[in-house]
Amino acid sequence: MTPVFNFSAGPAVLPKEVLLEVQNEVLDWHGSGMSVMEMSHRGREFMQIAAEAEEDLRAILGIPANYKVLFLQGGATTQFAMVPMNLLRGHRSIDFVDTGHWSKLAMKEARKYAQAVNVVASSEDRNYSYVPAQETWKRDPEAAYLHYTSNETIGGIEFPFVPDSREIPLVCDMSSNFLSRPVDVSRFGLIYGGAQKNIGPAGLTIVIVREDLLGDVVPGTPTMFDYKIQADGDSMYNTPPTFAIYVAGLVFKWMQRQGGLKAIEQRNIEKAALLYETIDTSSGFYTCPVDKAFRSRMNVPFRLGDERLDEDFIKEARARNLLQLKGHRAMGGMRASIYNAMPLEGVKALTTFMQDFARHRA
Ligand code: PMP
Repeated sequence: MTPVFNFSAGPAVLPKEVLLEVQNEVLDWHGSGMSVMEMSHRGREFMQIAAEAEEDLRAILGIPANYKVLFLQGGATTQFAMVPMNLLRGHRSIDFVDTGHWSKLAMKEARKYAQAVNVVASSEDRNYSYVPAQETWKRDPEAAYLHYTSNETIGGIEFPFVPDSREIPLVCDMSSNFLSRPVDVSRFGLIYGGAQKNIGPAGLTIVIVREDLLGDVVPGTPTMFDYKIQADGDSMYNTPPTFAIYVAGLVFKWMQRQGGLKAIEQRNIEKAALLYETIDTSSGFYTCPVDKAFRSRMNVPFRLGDERLDEDFIKEARARNLLQLKGHRAMGGMRASIYNAMPLEGVKALTTFMQDFARHRA
């Protein structure tokens, strides 16, 4: 069977090796006679699966001991509310960097809890094609925290730096570039992200939070939304997304076999470079709307010079088993998501197709 390459933005491609492991173990996990799906989350087997997943994630990212790792549900969208509920801690306002669709949604939700949302900088003036220079940010020194979106999944913009939040906590929505490169966790107050891009199936949301920020929620915060309660209960205050945690654990082990984050980052750089080079050397047949310095290694949006060819492009790509290339409805054009599990071979198949398509249609 010719391999299929899935460029979906999420839920997204998972490592074949991991899917085969799941297949092997789906009826009988390690001689237990049960599927992980059927196990009590409080049983010895599942407790071991969850503890190992956390341990491996801590090792991969180098998470310091004074940070809690939470395995939650509700997606990153729920974090848009949970973060202010837990981290406002009596402050009036929150600082936000506005780099596009997802930072806008995070701000919209935060406005329900904070008296003020201070947009320190926005790249809306140039259609979200860049990250505003840090020197220009208009910070509120009294803000509860500074929030940014390290990778805008729709716009295809990625921060090439970690902002300096000075004396206040730094909070990051890392949904779409989590575990794609090394990160110094100690620079952050909180990191969150949905699993369905680089980590595993949808339904699991990971939060990494510095311990001293826990325990002072806004009145009326639901029990499930209180990080302290989740941390004290080892993310098992109620039934956690057991199967998704199990698959994420297998992905963490796969990442370790790949050589860890440095090695994975190198591969991601190589894949993204090949795709952007194909776009940039197409004499305008393809264009990418993002400034070069801020182009995402994970989500590559591009347009065809003649958008009347869009439909043919998608159709012919599909015939070559290159799937899910249609751009987000807000952007139009195309988008190729090339997360950790997308092999270089997949990007090569795509760029070869793009060159062939351009040659025949130019
Ligand atoms: N933030 C970013 C950067 C995302 O890409 C997404 C989902 N594509 C979300 C937040 C929302 O995530 P979820 O669907 O898990 O709520």
